[in-house]
Amino acid sequence: MSNIVAIVGRPNVGKSTFFNRLIQRREAIVDAVSGVTRDRHYGKSDWNGKEFSLIDTGGYVLGSDDVFEAEIDKQVELAIEEADAIIFMVDVETGVTGMDEDVAKLLRKVNKPVFLAVNKVDNGQRAEDAVEFYSLGLGEYYTIAGINGSGTGELLDALVAAL
Ligand code: GDP
Ligand code: MG
Repeated sequence: MSNIVAIVGRPNVGKSTFFNRLIQRREAIVDAVSGVTRDRHYGKSDWNGKEFSLIDTGGYVLGSDDVFEAEIDKQVELAIEEADAIIFMVDVETGVTGMDEDVAKLLRKVNKPVFLAVNKVDNGQRAEDAVEFYSLGLGEYYTIAGINGSGTGELLDALVAAL
């Protein structure tokens, strides 16, 4: 596979909602590392004529908030190895959390394109609230609402340009 894009972030930020919106079909993938990759979902998508494979990480926690930070870090490290580009998703409803800061710390060291996606930006107030995510030290961010596709075009334009 080439053009692999991983979506990382803590539980409930909206990774799977965004993933499901983008993919046209799921790929049957045999997980090489059982127990680590078992709940990673893979799908194919394309944008502006460029195909890419999308990985939705962290499904194993089944939407629960009760997840060890170490598990998320493992998913992020795997994504860093495997992916050509990374979408780091955060949630404007909750704002910056400690777990977001941990993930950002890992991603700041990465020599691959990282796109910070501030999700659940459903109205103008939330767009203003998103500025706090500059504190993650990852530079510019994209405000999106995965639930209705708002803002995702700009994110995808930048993403495929980097592939
Ligand atoms: P994941 O754990 O990161 O995969 O998150 P999910 O995709 O399962 O979404 C967690 C919750 O956030 C669900 O209740 C979604 O409906 C909700 N959600 C996802 N995207 C949006 C969004 O753009 N706006 C709002 N308001 N809620 C969203
Ligand atoms: Mg999910």
